[in-house]
Amino acid sequence: MQNLWNEHDAQAFDNDLDMRVYSSRLLGQDKSLVLHGGGNTSVKIEQENILGEKESILYVKGSGWDLETIEAEGYAPVKLNHLLKLSQLDVLSDAQMVNELKTNMTLASAPGPSVETILHALLPYKYVDHTHSDAVVSITNTTNGKERIQSIYGNKVVVIPYVMPGFDLSRICAELFPKEVTNETIGMVLMNHGIFSFGDSAKESYDRMIQLVSMAEDYLDQQRALEVESTYINTSLESENISAIHIARLRNEISAHLHYPVILHQQRTPQTLAFANHPQIAHISQQGPATPDHVIRTKQFPMLGAELNSSINSYISNYQSYFTAGAKTPHDGQQKTMLDPLPRIILDQKAGMITMGKSIKDAEIVADIYQHTIDIILRATQLGGFQALPSQDIFDVEYWELEQAKLKKSSKSSAGSSDFSGEIALVTGAVTGIGKACVDSLLTRGACVVALDILPEIESLYQRSDYLGICCDVTDEDAIIEALDKTLRHFGGLDMLILNAGIFPGGCRIEELSLKDWRRVMDINLDANVSLLSKAHPLLKLAPNGGRIIAMGSKNVPAPGPGAAAYSSAKAALNQLARVAALEWGKDNIRINTLHPNAVFDTAIWTPEVLAARAEHYGMTIEAYKTNNLLKTEITSKDVAELAAEMCGSLFAKTTAAQVPIDGGNDRVI
Ligand code: ZN
Repeated sequence: MQNLWNEHDAQAFDNDLDMRVYSSRLLGQDKSLVLHGGGNTSVKIEQENILGEKESILYVKGSGWDLETIEAEGYAPVKLNHLLKLSQLDVLSDAQMVNELKTNMTLASAPGPSVETILHALLPYKYVDHTHSDAVVSITNTTNGKERIQSIYGNKVVVIPYVMPGFDLSRICAELFPKEVTNETIGMVLMNHGIFSFGDSAKESYDRMIQLVSMAEDYLDQQRALEVESTYINTSLESENISAIHIARLRNEISAHLHYPVILHQQRTPQTLAFANHPQIAHISQQGPATPDHVIRTKQFPMLGAELNSSINSYISNYQSYFTAGAKTPHDGQQKTMLDPLPRIILDQKAGMITMGKSIKDAEIVADIYQHTIDIILRATQLGGFQALPSQDIFDVEYWELEQAKLKKSSKSSAGSSDFSGEIALVTGAVTGIGKACVDSLLTRGACVVALDILPEIESLYQRSDYLGICCDVTDEDAIIEALDKTLRHFGGLDMLILNAGIFPGGCRIEELSLKDWRRVMDINLDANVSLLSKAHPLLKLAPNGGRIIAMGSKNVPAPGPGAAAYSSAKAALNQLARVAALEWGKDNIRINTLHPNAVFDTAIWTPEVLAARAEHYGMTIEAYKTNNLLKTEITSKDVAELAAEMCGSLFAKTTAAQVPIDGGNDRVI
């Protein structure tokens, strides 16, 4: 394990809290120590309050902050004396604890203190670091984990048996730590959970964390359990994958069961494939999560879908019986309602791993955590057997009051525009103009967006996990098939389709129009859409809330102009195609509507020069030309995109085959 401390960098941080920030970020950089908001750190500082009184304040990581990117304001200042008194109570409910922590902060705007705050308070050291180190957890989660930890560390650490995070854990540490601490003690190991280090300075505490974790790694190495990749069979990425439509079917079934759409994300890597094909996978994958932190973030056991390819239904029935029956406590049979019964992980011999979430971010976090879990399980297996928490303990974390409260809060829906959380949209011709505006409008409403364009810039238009840009010629049917395949593997399905790609060639009268030019316009503006509609139909049919399509028509459909024969004909044919699709696909709960925009000038075609020339041609000012409609209003790409997005939403849930002009009112259309 590499010690990342850099004396030069550290000198830029000059007070106790800033030093806390610096070394916390070092811990956060190492994903084998902390993942996605896991782990926490603290520092105890003497301060003067507004009355001039001295008080000891514990600055502890606030919820919602990640160690890798934490700032000073990510720490919650809590009165230390009060925390120490709390640690002596016999009982304190989760709700009471949260209340005590919040009401004893010295800064109203600070984030909520970590649930491990009291634990940090009672360790009598200035700096306290806590991680869920993969190496340490690999060792604690074995049958004789405690003996192994003691043989590695001797008196260097105090070992605490597993207790659920929260007040009970603090209580047991308050009792055991003072009894077992020696002058050699530099840390504390929590069985099936993680490790603490502490010291007088940020550097001392950090160095000790690295030292302790390195000792665990050395032990694993001696036992040939550190580099586990070589110890199990390899399945090559070239082997047969499941067909992507199965993922969309699975998403449809799960979403129907949950009554909300979810995202599925396939991670087919040498690691996940090999793990799914491990000879003992049925056993080792069903032992439960590695740490309570992982239970919270992955929510459920991995589900093994060995039959995924041939029978989605067997997975689904397996899932249904587990998650409805699983809502009884294994201990006392008491029925509890699970607020979030979403399964999180499927391992499949062909698919590798598929993770799920209400958003792509959630699904990716689960994937990250499970990749670390795979290493932990394989290492522990190498040591003689992975042993997770007893099911009652996992259940307790799963139904934890604090976590349930969090869920209640986050399930509140946002008011205003449509909410496309858990849904996937595909937009063609998306790099500029109306297409790009549609991408923005859909992202704003929470959809995952796949954006196609012939320009390679599409791939880097946004760097965010809910955006997938694919450089693709829409007239190439194979490229369309490939793009849809990527869409399903990345996000799990397709709910909305915006047919926007098109070209507008310069004006040309029919007697001068070559068949070649005509065909090129037809190819892009019409045929490409036929092909995309046809290939997307089986996917849209599986959309949990019904498939939605918007065809970008044109004012030229109801009111053609001279010189645009190919463009107008292609758009008119697209319009007719949409009407037939509405007739054919209504029974599949797919609706398709057409927009007829006119005079949208903030697109790539309308350079300032072209705009000036056209305005002059009509003897108008640019301003008058831009607002040459009944409402005297300018129509922007964003206006069109917002309407397109809303037409995919609930307001238009009962409308199909409509043609809606967005042109400021045009007397020829009326
Ligand atoms: Zn922890």
